[in-house]
Amino acid sequence: MKNLEILINNTIKDLTELNIPFGNVEKWSVNTRAKKRWGQCKKIGLNTFEINISQLLLQDDLDDQIAKNVIAHELLHTVKGCFAHKGKWKLLAQKINQSIPDYNIKVRDTFEEITISEIEKKAKYIIKCRSCDFTAKRYKHSRVIDKPYLYRCPKCQGKIYIQKL
Ligand SMILES: [Zn+2]
Ligand SMILES: [Zn+2]
Repeated sequence: MKNLEILINNTIKDLTELNIPFGNVEKWSVNTRAKKRWGQCKKIGLNTFEINISQLLLQDDLDDQIAKNVIAHELLHTVKGCFAHKGKWKLLAQKINQSIPDYNIKVRDTFEEITISEIEKKAKYIIKCRSCDFTAKRYKHSRVIDKPYLYRCPKCQGKIYIQKL
């Protein structure tokens, strides 16, 4: 599992040059039970906040940037007048997305907006056909990865092979 603290520090480092007046995050935690949201920011004092990030974003084979987008999204909620996903929050999110090419902060932090397939976009294997242009991505190890010779191309029945990414 990725280290949340390192991801937070890297995100804050990326954003420093933009001089965004973030509030004070008193506690960061990993949410192991989140079923709907990638992250959540709770107000616990006048200018103090608690943020949790879904454990699903900390899987080792994911791109760091996916978690960093959510961390930046939640951090923006700590800026004065930015608790809703509109107005100033939206402008700052746009500013980050436009100023730092790696960032793509989404307006919502629910699973519907950032889909599971996006989270899994780092495929580990590609199944390819030797005879036609058929390819299919696989994110996990499975029987076809182990024993491709037992399978045929679904398009042309040709022989398939596995390319490790
Ligand atoms: Zn939000
Ligand atoms: Zn084929």
